[in-house]
Amino acid sequence: MANWDVPALLCEDRQHLLHSLWHPADHAEPHVWVRGQGAVLTDASGREFLDGLSCLWNVNVGHGRRELAEAAALQMESLAFATNYAGSANVPAIQLARRLTEIAYPNLSAAFFTSGGAESNESAFKTARFYWKAKGRPEKVKVIAREFGYHGLTLAAMSATGVAGYAKMFEPRVPNFVHTAAPYAYRLAGVKPGETVGQAAARMLEETVLREGPDTVAAFIAEPVQGAGGIIVAPDDYFPRVREVCAKHDVLFIADEVITGFGRTGRWFALERWGVQPDILAFAKGITSGYLPLGGIMVSEPIHQAMLSAPYADRWMHAYTYSGHPTCCAVALRNLEILEKEGLVERAEKMGQRLLDGARSLLDLSAVGEVRGLGLMVAVELVADRATKAAFDPAKNVIGRVRKELEARGLFTRVVRDIILLAPPLVITEAQVDRIVQILREGIRAVLPERV
Ligand code: PMP
Repeated sequence: MANWDVPALLCEDRQHLLHSLWHPADHAEPHVWVRGQGAVLTDASGREFLDGLSCLWNVNVGHGRRELAEAAALQMESLAFATNYAGSANVPAIQLARRLTEIAYPNLSAAFFTSGGAESNESAFKTARFYWKAKGRPEKVKVIAREFGYHGLTLAAMSATGVAGYAKMFEPRVPNFVHTAAPYAYRLAGVKPGETVGQAAARMLEETVLREGPDTVAAFIAEPVQGAGGIIVAPDDYFPRVREVCAKHDVLFIADEVITGFGRTGRWFALERWGVQPDILAFAKGITSGYLPLGGIMVSEPIHQAMLSAPYADRWMHAYTYSGHPTCCAVALRNLEILEKEGLVERAEKMGQRLLDGARSLLDLSAVGEVRGLGLMVAVELVADRATKAAFDPAKNVIGRVRKELEARGLFTRVVRDIILLAPPLVITEAQVDRIVQILREGIRAVLPERV
């Protein structure tokens, strides 16, 4: 491996490179990543880390896949780029759209490609509005999203995002985005006697629709498992009820499967588990396992028909330069082949259960309030007091210190509030899962020693 002058690199980094969620306090000891193999990342100083979050929940097939590099090279040599505006097409984009109709929900008949998650959600919001205008109901424009939802950070996606902090310095938000409760079993307030958490959260959605006026609501957007908001897993009765609420009030259901798509939860797409189909599916990340930027939406047959039959003056005037990028689509096709041939969707279910069982063994630590997960998405939520579920005093930076202890033991991952987030590559081995659990125990105990 090349020898890097890390201090010199970091000096230039500080001078010239702005990072996502930028603040120097979060960039005091950055890693310069130079290599990846399977579920392991190596930094420029040669240190190896387990990739606890598949980088940004996206490297599903793991690092170091020569097949994907070859697929990109092969496509670039013949046709690296071509426009996908109406009047043009390319072979990988056509093949990928067809392949998606085979693996995604059966009611979805067509795909539009973007470069990432936020662009996909923007496309979903605009398509929902388009659909209702085409149906002669132009007043249906509002989007209902959820607290703790994360949908990206372009202006409309940020306005849908319900995780604290992202909007503060960029407000005002785009009008016509409203929020309702998340089905956060550990913390949801307002559950009525005799009601389950799933029923309560779905009731709160219906109340929000009624309060806003069903004639003004275009769509409801939800991640099947809320990711960046804290890996919040909906109870089994939530999404079937949500689907009913949306159908009853003519509200389109947008599933943001940017994280949960392409095997992450142990199904190709997460809502399959509950027998629910969305009207619009937003995807990104796992479609290429992050090897190239690609996202998109799929639309249901009625929405597709509305696009096909619109008068010319009322056409779907939405576009991105990189929609249907041939090289990105060629890599996606190869990535989907890997997921299928290596049985990685099933592997996510199996390794996810092992990780969840292992993490649940940490419940003997008094600081561990809840452990939850679905497939290879697992959260360990720490609390200052188990009985009251009180959070730690933010001034003590407990979660930041725990993250550092995990890192010192070779696990690199992200945290939010007092929650450790885990979503390693689907190729992770049993031994690596067990090592993660061991590191979690040691790291938490290093900061929060048990009182005896
Ligand atoms: N939706 C979800 C559920 C996400 O997790 C993310 C990114 N973490 C996005 C949308 C936004 O994707 P991007 O950062 O590619 O715009």
